[in-house]
Amino acid sequence: MRQPLVAGNWKMHGTLATNQRLLEALKAGLAGLAGVQVAVCVPFPYLAQAGQALAGTGIGWGAQTLSEHDTGAYTGEVSGPMLRDFGCRYVIVGHSERRSLFGERDPQVAAKFVAAQRAGLTPILCVGETLAEREAGATEAVVASQLDAVIAAAGAQALAQAVVAYEPVWAIGTGRTATPSQAQAVHEFIRARLATAGGAALAGGVAILYGGSVKAANAGELFRQPDVDGGLIGGASLVAEDFIAICRAAAAKGA
Ligand code: PEP
Repeated sequence: MRQPLVAGNWKMHGTLATNQRLLEALKAGLAGLAGVQVAVCVPFPYLAQAGQALAGTGIGWGAQTLSEHDTGAYTGEVSGPMLRDFGCRYVIVGHSERRSLFGERDPQVAAKFVAAQRAGLTPILCVGETLAEREAGATEAVVASQLDAVIAAAGAQALAQAVVAYEPVWAIGTGRTATPSQAQAVHEFIRARLATAGGAALAGGVAILYGGSVKAANAGELFRQPDVDGGLIGGASLVAEDFIAICRAAAAKGA
């Protein structure tokens, strides 16, 4: 059975002081919670802080992107082996903000996915359509091509050591959440695509998270959908009580 996962994406938020309060609150609030894996993906400078605070707890930590290169003259970049040095378990790749604001296209996202796995990290691969693409009826085509780019570069079986996050771009940070049935429909499509590429056993084992304005109030209904295996959480991951409530909603599914 797939264990639910809830991963927080802190984006470019936080200070040493606010992070410490948040991390301590998460440790206290999530201690002993079974049936869900929890992780926070923090800004690079705070990886050491997250590692120190979370070592020995069940809460994992990770980064929000990485270089597709392992080492070299790439000013400003951070590599997979560096993230491993800081104890990261996860790294987000292909987040829509990386795609839209930093020009990351499918081939680069696929190269980052491969680099993450080369370093022993679990990539959280984000896919999702814009509002215009949804309204044009292109949701499945967009998600399929984003997924297929990674399958072509890494091989379908590589997805067994990865997490997929369906994040409709129109729902990220907008307060507008996909309905549970909209989310389920795309998750089911992604799982079917994985089955076609790599077989039913592979597809059945891959956690597919939903992301896009998940809150404590809507998490339960989203996570009850059969193919929704937890969430990638932006804004609500910065508020301890909200994030904890979302983790509890996922744990209820995993129990
Ligand atoms: C995200 O950044 O991945 C995200 C889902 O953000 P939010 O929860 O704020 O919509």
